[in-house]
Amino acid sequence: MQPTVAVTGRAEQRIQAGHLWIYRSDVIDAKAAPGDTVTVLGARGRPVGQALYSDRSQIALRLLSHGAEPADAAFWRQRISGAVAFRKALAIDATAYRLVHAEGDLLPSLIVDRYGDYLVLQSLSQGVEKLLPAITGLLVDLLAPRGILARNDAKVRLLEGLEPRVDALYGEVPASILVREGPIEYEVDPWKGQKTGLFLDQRENRAAAAAYARGRLLDCFSYNGGFAMRLAPHCDEVIAVDISADAVARIAANAARNGLANIEAREANVFDELRRLEREGERFDTIVLDPPAFAKNKASVPKAISGYRDINLRALRLLKPGGTLVTCSCSYNVDEATFGQVVHEAATDALVHVNVLEKRMQGRDHPVLLGVPETYYLKCFILRRIE
Ligand code: SAH
Repeated sequence: MQPTVAVTGRAEQRIQAGHLWIYRSDVIDAKAAPGDTVTVLGARGRPVGQALYSDRSQIALRLLSHGAEPADAAFWRQRISGAVAFRKALAIDATAYRLVHAEGDLLPSLIVDRYGDYLVLQSLSQGVEKLLPAITGLLVDLLAPRGILARNDAKVRLLEGLEPRVDALYGEVPASILVREGPIEYEVDPWKGQKTGLFLDQRENRAAAAAYARGRLLDCFSYNGGFAMRLAPHCDEVIAVDISADAVARIAANAARNGLANIEAREANVFDELRRLEREGERFDTIVLDPPAFAKNKASVPKAISGYRDINLRALRLLKPGGTLVTCSCSYNVDEATFGQVVHEAATDALVHVNVLEKRMQGRDHPVLLGVPETYYLKCFILRRIE
């Protein structure tokens, strides 16, 4: 018999409004095992849809389909093919990009990134974990990769009671894969690199920023030099700063690989480095701020906001009049309006006037799903300091 989970009217309304999650507090009765694909039952036993069930997470159900539509093998094949076809249609000028963006592709808690001939996936719920053998088979069938790596060391798995593990699910996956993003080549370590190896969500923002970049560039929170390398051909001199020694070594190696001789990689804490540069009277034409998520949860929002304000204030002071600031936040808990407010306050404190040239978000291969605000996490503003 198909497992079922009965939910409240409030949960049904949430689904009708376009969200895909039902919280534990809205579960009335679960006749299901952890990770089962279940029929969600609403008022008077009406089927709301099929969903992935978790017995641990606060997100008890993640909706796959509506009404009586089954979430069987044919369903998964169709959804994944749809996501892949959408990326093809985008004609992305890169060999590394996201193929499946979880909720954004109506494939909740499943992430699949392409790195050249290899796939790197993340399974972020009990439901997807249970289906991994079938999903792996489908991916092999649809995409014929040389190997598939599961980067299942993301912290959110702990909320599902899932163990961290990194292993090849199919074929062999090397410790270094050569990929291209626009004109830039990267060596990526899918086993140990941050996220699945690269910050793929910034690809389009790097290209957009390149259109404004000039003169002296300061790339803060550079990781392996993503913005620095994409912008360097338009600049005279580039300083790329990251706190991680490993990242700084990668920036230098990537710069050399791409023949970019004007990049200097510095190992430093950006908060300290911005202060130091200000003391030394340094000035820049272009500055990028791409920090890690300062607000990982609601409780850390006030501290995150003061962090964002601090770096934006200092960057605006270091920027020459007429210069460009590319400022990002990947904290879902700090929404676009709040981030805009923080940047405004930083400009006011810095006594500068600023134009907003572009308000951007994560790349289109990381689609936002209307009705699921959690899918919109990356904000990227391109600003011009007027004077
Ligand atoms: N801009 C990069 C992605 C940045 S990810 C790209 O386009 O690919 C955030 C980076 O910030 C990580 O590499 C991390 O090592 C670094 N980081 C975190 N805290 C930092 C700090 N206080 N000072 C400098 N770097 C920091």
